[in-house]
Formats: sequence, C-alpha cells, structure tokens
Amino acid sequence: MVSAVLTEAGRSRPYRLSVPLSLETLAVPLPRAGEVLVRIERASLCHSDLSVIDGSRIRPLPMAIGHEASGTVIDCGDGVDDVQAGDRVVLVFVPSCGACRACRSGRPALCHRGAAANASGDLLTGPALLRSEEGERINHHLGVSAFSEYAVVARESVVVVDADVPFDVAAMFGCAALTGIGAVLNTGQLAEGQSVIVFGLGAVGLMAVMAAAQVPGTTVIAIDPLPEKRALALSCGAHVAGTPDEAAGLVAAHTGDGQGGETGVDLAVEAVGSARVLEACLPLLTRGGALVSVGLPHPDQTITVPAVQFAGTGIRLLGSYMGDSVPERDIPRYLALWRTGKLPVELLHTDTRPLAEINEGLDALADGRVVRRLFVTA
Ligand SMILES: [Zn+2]
Ligand SMILES: [Zn+2]
Repeated sequence: MVSAVLTEAGRSRPYRLSVPLSLETLAVPLPRAGEVLVRIERASLCHSDLSVIDGSRIRPLPMAIGHEASGTVIDCGDGVDDVQAGDRVVLVFVPSCGACRACRSGRPALCHRGAAANASGDLLTGPALLRSEEGERINHHLGVSAFSEYAVVARESVVVVDADVPFDVAAMFGCAALTGIGAVLNTGQLAEGQSVIVFGLGAVGLMAVMAAAQVPGTTVIAIDPLPEKRALALSCGAHVAGTPDEAAGLVAAHTGDGQGGETGVDLAVEAVGSARVLEACLPLLTRGGALVSVGLPHPDQTITVPAVQFAGTGIRLLGSYMGDSVPERDIPRYLALWRTGKLPVELLHTDTRPLAEINEGLDALADGRVVRRLFVTA
C-alpha cells in the first residue's frame, strides 16, 4: 500500500518544494487481536498534521501521517465482534481504553493509555505495525495514519456510522467535528440564549460556529483575519463576523442589556492556537463566562493574565481536548444534527484531490486557502 510518510520535521516552506511527505510503499499489516483493517476512503488534512510537519508538535519519526478520515472495514482481528467487514466507519484520533482514570470518569478523550500510545507512535493494542520496504519501523499517527490506502487500528479507533453517510462528510466527523462541536456543547455547555465568540475560523472554529448557531436564541460572533473565512462563518450560522481588531467592538454591540450595560460573551472559543489570542479572549467574557482553549499553541508560548479576575468575576478557563467528546455517543449525535440540516458540514469541504498532491495540500492549508481538502488515498 502507498502511505504518506514524514521522515523529518521542520522543513521550509513552500512544502511543494521541500516535500516533507514522501509516498512510500509499505506492506499492508494484518490486524492483531482487538484490531481492525480499514480501507481508507477519504482522509483530510488538519492543522494538527501541519503541527507535526513543522515541528511544533513533537512526534516520533518516521511517521505515517493523517488522523481525520472515513473508511470501510475489510477485516477484523480476534476478539472484535461488534464491527464487521463492510461497515462504514469514522476514524477517531484518541483510542480510549475504557479502564483508566479518565475513561472511568467518563472522559475518554483524555484516556491515559490512548495518550501514551499516541505519543509513542504505537497502537492502543500494541507496538507499531507499519514497516518500510527495508523493514524499518514506521510510527502510527494518533493511532490512525490515514494518508494510506489501508490502516490497521485498534477497535477503539473506529465508530461505525450508517452506510448512507457520504465518505466526504463522514471523514470530517472525526477530528474537526468532535473537537469543534464538542468544545461548544460538551466543554462549554452552551445554553439557550447565550452569546459566543469564536476566534479562528478553520474547520474546528467553523464547526464551533455551527454548533453554537443551532442552539436556540444564541448570538454567535465569528473572528478571523481572512475575509473568505468570515464569509464562510456567516454561511455556517454566525450572526456577525469581524477581524480580531473588531472583536471587542462586536462584543460590546451584540451582547448585554441593549443599553450598553452587562456586555460580554458567555463563551469564548479559542481555535487559533495562540497565547496572545487566549489573553485577548478573557476581557471579552461576561461575569461567570468561560473561555474554552481548543487550539494548540507552540509549547514555548505562555500567557500572562490578571490573576484576580478568576475569583473576582467567576470566569473560567477550560482546556478542551477532542471537545471532551465521547466518540461512540457523540458522532451519532452530531450526525443526527447533520441530517436535520443543523450542521451543514459540507460547507467546509473545499475539494477532493489525489494523494500525490498531498505536499501542495500542506501549503494550501497553511496559507488558509482551503478549509478541508480531502484526499482519495487508493
Ligand atoms: Zn483510558
Ligand atoms: Zn485534526
């Protein structure tokens, strides 16, 4: 099978010239106990792929990249009896063990064993299976490695969906939907009539906008420097959109009691991955409001905030990994909203290209020219 493999992080842009991802031929692994073999139907490029490629997210190399995808189950290993060949699946980038502290407390997105396997490039079910033609170990990316014709993954890395969900749509319900919708509905617990501001209108931010807009009576403010992204946010249900410099003015104008008092948003979602943006969000919150941190800033970045405001005004800073989603529960729940037209995720699908164009795709995503570019891997 052909797989897109990263051997060196931090190559210079443009990526179409530095070619960080090489298409290599790997043997198709056989599923071990507790694993499934999936034919990848669509795989999308996500900013967290870029974070590995540019070196801001350190992962063991070489690594077969890709974590947001849909596929068809081809074969199941021993002990897998609730998934069958032919099932249509969404790939999930945190396989949860069901037994650790996080899993037992109902937070599988924070699974300790899943996080350890993801950090080491292994699968939840055992050591990495991928090998180069020379027999060298190739690490798995978040238990998925989606820019490949096939993937062997832990059973816990797939959620079965109805066979009529298009592969293009299903793929986006892996990372972007779990992260963006979950940030609003699970982490932020947005309630009817509340106000939200979303910073950063990539796929995750736009998913957050859609999730917020379908809650009755909400006011949704969308912020991004790029005018095309702001226009897309309005199509996704945002009530108003502006540049980062306009954010404070929009909050003042669109929240509060209508007389200029009690302004501020109930919820701010930071989907940029910037310490400066996190800092800028806090003063926009109303008393008791919550800031949900979704983006992944570079590890060197720190924030400086007036410490008194947390106790003084009851505001909260909430980290949100994978939107605090429970994939087995939430992917069907989010797909049900999609079926009613309340989550028009098709708006985020820019185009579909062959895997051979993956390095050009990295440039397009880094430049903000695409939201979700999907790849056909076969
Ligand atoms: Zn666990
Ligand atoms: Zn992602």
